[in-house]
Amino acid sequence: MTAVNHQVSKALVDRYGAQTVFVLEDLTGIRGATARVRRRNRYTSVSWAFYQLRQMIEYKATLHQARTVAVAPRYTSQTCPKCGHVARANRDKRRHRFACQRGHYRSNDDRIGGMNLHRLGIEYRVTGATGARPQS
Ligand SMILES: [Zn+2]
Repeated sequence: MTAVNHQVSKALVDRYGAQTVFVLEDLTGIRGATARVRRRNRYTSVSWAFYQLRQMIEYKATLHQARTVAVAPRYTSQTCPKCGHVARANRDKRRHRFACQRGHYRSNDDRIGGMNLHRLGIEYRVTGATGARPQS
């Protein structure tokens, strides 16, 4: 995982370079994630690898005049990027599906998470906020 993280972080920073803001979910402070780590070993390695990747991106981004921001991961996979409706029912985690219960917008749930992180990154550039709760 360390070798993969080196390759991924290098590729990202080389590709996007200076003036980029890399937006990552801050998964370190979530109580729920910690609880899951204790219950299922599988999550331990996942969260460890993700934390390492984040550190590598932060380090390499700094060297290339880019920045990294860790945003609150709440609702990033439950928020409709089209109408802003936030609901747990929007996401079928097991099937990796997102279906807005209000406006019927549908997509892959990880793609939705990426779209919402993109929006949070823009909000960060404008307001400096990293944990803005989406409007429901
Ligand atoms: Zn919607």
